[in-house]
Amino acid sequence: MIDTHAHINPSKSPFDKGDFKIEGLEYVILSGANVEDSTRNVELSKTNKKLLAAVGIHPQEIISNYELSITNLEKLLKENPEIVAVGECGLDYSNPPKSPFDKGDFQEMEELFRQQIGLAKRYNKPLIVHARKAIEEVFDILRGSNMRGVIHCFSGGKKRVQKVLDLGKDWYFGIDGNLTYEAGLVEVVKVIPHDRLLAETDSPELTPLPFRGQKNNPSYVKYVYQKIAKIWGMEFEEAEKILDENARKLFGIFTSLRM
Ligand SMILES: [Zn+2]
Repeated sequence: MIDTHAHINPSKSPFDKGDFKIEGLEYVILSGANVEDSTRNVELSKTNKKLLAAVGIHPQEIISNYELSITNLEKLLKENPEIVAVGECGLDYSNPPKSPFDKGDFQEMEELFRQQIGLAKRYNKPLIVHARKAIEEVFDILRGSNMRGVIHCFSGGKKRVQKVLDLGKDWYFGIDGNLTYEAGLVEVVKVIPHDRLLAETDSPELTPLPFRGQKNNPSYVKYVYQKIAKIWGMEFEEAEKILDENARKLFGIFTSLRM
């Protein structure tokens, strides 16, 4: 199993002391929320072969001097070719951006997103895209961008599945632990092609049943795999093979490298 989206950064959440569980997993992809976080992801990936780093700036983590952040992200990409993706980046209109931007002024956030798309293009990496209350705007930016990636924690509903598919054959849907308790999401998963789905935890959040309410861990991606297997009407191992293959394909993970 591969958890394609986790945050195991102790600085991100006060109750997370770095005691994350990764047993049973082949890989965990560490999503980056800001430069500091991204730098730590790269450091962590050098300490454990199971941990793969993504670097990015979350749309809610935008700071006034974002040009410098982009410069720093680029430095990480240049110096660490093992980085597997740029993200998480995207648009989040659920809350007004943090100071210094006014409510409703999302132009800077869009610019930050576009610059990260540019980095992904330059360094030939897939994108991990965060879209909250802004999915149509995200589609507008990605359409015709000629990129590949995942719409992390897809919440666009059944009616927007086709829009992701229309982005191109290298776009995936990230599905998280809320699949274990949200009936609506089960309906969405039913219409997503098997070869376009990625399992993720978004640890330490979005904890699946039976641990809902506690801290999430990458190893709990097992419950997302289980639920997907059930929806697909498959044995666990059969679904696991498909989901692992999807993750390997998007993030360019080749088994031979581990031998
Ligand atoms: Zn995330």
